[in-house]
Amino acid sequence: MSADYVIPAPPQPVIAVAGTSKTYPVRRIWCVGRNYIEHIREMGQDERLPPFYFAKAADMIVPDGGTVPYPSLTKDMHHEVELVVAIGKGGRNIPADKANDHIYGYAVGIDLTRRDLQIASRDLKRPWEVGKAFDHSAPCGAIKPAAESGHPKKGKITLKCNGQVRQDGDLEQLIWNVPEIIADLSKMVELAPGDIIMTGTPAGVAACIAGDKLECSVEGIGTVSVTIGQPLK
Ligand code: MN
Repeated sequence: MSADYVIPAPPQPVIAVAGTSKTYPVRRIWCVGRNYIEHIREMGQDERLPPFYFAKAADMIVPDGGTVPYPSLTKDMHHEVELVVAIGKGGRNIPADKANDHIYGYAVGIDLTRRDLQIASRDLKRPWEVGKAFDHSAPCGAIKPAAESGHPKKGKITLKCNGQVRQDGDLEQLIWNVPEIIADLSKMVELAPGDIIMTGTPAGVAACIAGDKLECSVEGIGTVSVTIGQPLK
């Protein structure tokens, strides 16, 4: 039954599912900070800390082939290619050895970051939203069901900007692996179907500008490509 909403209900954000005409409805987007050692070093941060999380809103997703308008307020938008985990079955306090049962599939995403604003917030001990959670900040390619891909423990994760390789890592370099992240995050919040987790980026993050084409891939999982467009007026 249609609820008595006083405004139109917002559309349900979705991600394509590879090889089908079906889609995966997105509920929440969680992101893991600092999960590859070389990226921690390039950001000058402590290498031994446990994982931590930040969030983006579901409607910040950009589909494969989409355009990301260069965001407002920044002069230093960075790309961060990441393995994305799509939760298929929810839970709290999920044990790591059961975590794979909660995964619907995997995709390739980009945690776009207004680096200048993120660093300014970090230095002021303020929240990261201004740097991380902005419109069009979460490009995500089609989800490959785990029933087809299995649960990858290694495989190349790469990002090219205008054909030049900028990020070139391997999933085996994840400090906290996917089951460990699900176990840890499900202590903080209840996970539910529709939740996706961006699992952190390898080294090589760098700025992109209007006109750049970003092409990302994770071996055995898929790809995502977006173009950076002109700022919105
Ligand atoms: Mn990231």
